[in-house]
Amino acid sequence: MNLVFLGPPGAGKGTQAKKLAQELGLVHISTGDLLRSAVKNQTPLGRKAKEYMDRGELVPDELIIALIEEVMPEGGGVIFDGFPRTIAQAEALERMLERKGLHLDMVIFFDVDDDVVVERLSGRRVCPNCGAVYHIKYNPPKEDEICDRCGTRLIQREDDREEVVRNRLAVYREQTAPLIEYYERKGILIKLDASKDIGEVYSELLRLVNEERN
Ligand code: ADP
Ligand code: AMP
Repeated sequence: MNLVFLGPPGAGKGTQAKKLAQELGLVHISTGDLLRSAVKNQTPLGRKAKEYMDRGELVPDELIIALIEEVMPEGGGVIFDGFPRTIAQAEALERMLERKGLHLDMVIFFDVDDDVVVERLSGRRVCPNCGAVYHIKYNPPKEDEICDRCGTRLIQREDDREEVVRNRLAVYREQTAPLIEYYERKGILIKLDASKDIGEVYSELLRLVNEERN
């Protein structure tokens, strides 16, 4: 099964992708996580991507497509999280899957209002060591500001600051939201109410995916 998680930044795609990938034995490919790791390790990709990410803009398609080509498992079985984000990326993905004899089964659209997204992004805290994601109110660590998994002090992502968030939402609306219609036309878009709490969204997601599998 190959799935795309589509939706605005902060909709909860990463949170749900991690849980679902673990439960179904799928590979979770988050371009955001891969890029942050490239930036941290100061790889050539990281050096090119950093300025775009800091401004809340999209990293150029050719860099993202090359990155996906590199990490895509031959046999598929992937949750793409935060990719594709442009029509050009969606077309490249389709070509790549086709070459491998694979296809997309479902595109799950995480439907949630802007005010919820802003609240989720402003309260998001991440572990700079292991990448675990928390929310100060909705998914807090056991000990204040400390990662449950590895004990590192949590941080706020640079691009979760208010000025950058505003730009990321505008970029989402202009460049990524057109994918909703693109996949609707292909008949594989499924809308998920992502405004409920993490457990409720997960139950609904699992129900939708199991319906497709059976
Ligand atoms: P995305 O990957 O779509 O950018 P995340 O999964 O990182 O979003 O979630 C954004 C923030 O919102 C995180 O702090 C996360 O803990 C929190 N969060 C995720 N899903 C929910 C939910 N259903 N209800 C409340 N908070 C959530
Ligand atoms: P995310 O973690 O998904 O919120 O992504 C963080 C940042 O990484 C985005 O604001 C973009 O700058 C960049 N990024 C992640 N995925 C993509 C993508 N598919 N295309 C272009 N830029 C991306």
